[in-house]
Amino acid sequence: MGQGAGGTRRTGPALAPEGLRSDTALNPGAELARQVLAYDPRADGALIEAAYTLAAEAHAPQKREDGQPYIVHPLAVAGILADYRLDAATVATALLHDTVEDTGVTLAELEKRFGKEVARLVDGVTKLTRLELQSERTKQAENFRKLVLAMSEDIRVLIVKLADRLHNMRTLAAVTKPEKRVRTARETLEIYAPLAERIGMDALKTEIETLSFREMNPDAWQTIAARLTYLRGQGADLIEEIEQDVRRVLRDAGVEAIEVQGREKSPYSIWLKMQRKNVAFEQLSDIMAFRVIVKDKGDCYAALGAIHSSYRVVPGRFKDWISTPKTNGYQSIHTGVTVPERRNAKIEVQIRTREMHEIAEYGVAAHWVYKQGEGSAATRKRYPWVRDLLEILESASDPQDFLDHTKLELHRDQVFCFTPKGDLIELPRGATPVDFAYQVHSQVGDNTVGAKVNGKIVPLRHTLENGDQVEIITARGGSPNPAWERFVVTGKARARIRRFVHARQRATQKEEGRAAIAKVFRAAGLDFSEKQVEPALKVLKLPDFEALCIAVAAGNHSPRDVLTAAVPELRTPARSIDQMPLARPRGRLGAGPTLAP
Ligand code: MN
Repeated sequence: MGQGAGGTRRTGPALAPEGLRSDTALNPGAELARQVLAYDPRADGALIEAAYTLAAEAHAPQKREDGQPYIVHPLAVAGILADYRLDAATVATALLHDTVEDTGVTLAELEKRFGKEVARLVDGVTKLTRLELQSERTKQAENFRKLVLAMSEDIRVLIVKLADRLHNMRTLAAVTKPEKRVRTARETLEIYAPLAERIGMDALKTEIETLSFREMNPDAWQTIAARLTYLRGQGADLIEEIEQDVRRVLRDAGVEAIEVQGREKSPYSIWLKMQRKNVAFEQLSDIMAFRVIVKDKGDCYAALGAIHSSYRVVPGRFKDWISTPKTNGYQSIHTGVTVPERRNAKIEVQIRTREMHEIAEYGVAAHWVYKQGEGSAATRKRYPWVRDLLEILESASDPQDFLDHTKLELHRDQVFCFTPKGDLIELPRGATPVDFAYQVHSQVGDNTVGAKVNGKIVPLRHTLENGDQVEIITARGGSPNPAWERFVVTGKARARIRRFVHARQRATQKEEGRAAIAKVFRAAGLDFSEKQVEPALKVLKLPDFEALCIAVAAGNHSPRDVLTAAVPELRTPARSIDQMPLARPRGRLGAGPTLAP
């Protein structure tokens, strides 16, 4: 399927060491390939198997903090993505996602064995991982999110990263350092959960959010969990009873429900609501949400009508996301009602079709599944770049959007790079190491003699990309090269280079002018010094010696003008009027009157 599918990848050994241990079980790579082939018969199963083999070999010496072999992690991430029914390249990327960062495997090797597409995806995930390591310095959550989006040039990069994060959160308890656990949880809550929500991966979002909340606020978690347990005991089978009520209501109205499912809201969303409304848990009544899945759009509204005519509607809770889908593609009808015969329980009801449901749960990932019929080229075209996502975000009308439009607009034209210390430098797209250097400090810019990007020497005109680590090589007393002006893109760099070029031109002109003036002084048998020339400044209306020299070099005054202006005695009044060499304008003006009489 992939355009980067080289034939070489098939040469890898077909079986992993694990496969040899047991003669009955398939090796995990083969099993994964089989899973993918089951939903996408055209998928390249060999690609997945080979990716597994390489990852297993490369990670062989490593263990996770819980003592398990490291390969367990990439395998789990790939498994999550296969459950999402993503394409073979994405699943292979998941298997390989930590190889470049954590083992001796190089990107070039990956490209040779698995093709360009997989190498590019792994590269994207690796860059996001490096970003995480630097996150302490990139402080602001919003910048960080922007950065993650900007770096996920292919949305599959972000999806792999989210699955990676999900597995790390699931296994967070094995991390021994408490501060590391809390940091990871906070980062998940602030960065990744909103991103998952943005691309509509609601199930994943809820799970990572719940896991983070539990880590960061164990007391609140405990309280809510205990209270939920208590309510569960009290209400016995309240959820199930209401489910049956709703089914009956729909049946009586002649609406066929494919599924009616009730659930408790997640502890984190309950907690947020408590914070927002400033209420105690005891007062919080709507902790249950019900999902009604029906055949088509028409049935959605029919179901809504049936529910509204059977239960008391809670004002202000009705939202029609079907006629106006959310910016992430989400569609559903939401409403809130109370059920008098069930102890006045306040419930939330979401009504949607099966397709809307899958999109709600799996977001962009679901589009893959739905578009698979169009062929994989069309699939890729549909969501090839996060840019598409950015466009969706841009047209967002929801005021609660975490990215505001103007900033987003800016950020599409920007690249984010790092200093070797990990400081974030924002630059316009197309920026070069010279722009980077001037952004760091004008002195650094002036003294630039070379640059390394990601550890490799590059020409100064090299175009920087998101996530590049840039090291500027400087020389004390170095000076900007006028040729830089042709490729720099930042105003700061350009102004600085121009200023320098200007200054250098002035210095040359000053020297030329000075030499010319000195020559006529010496010819007249006079000493030449700045002091000697000083009287000429007033006559010629020039501010200083430098300006005088430059005026002479530029031909605005002749050296002789300067001489006679400085030493008026040299002016012989007896001379004929057309020889009067004072300032040229006077000489020229004087030419007129001689003809007049
Ligand atoms: Mn990982």
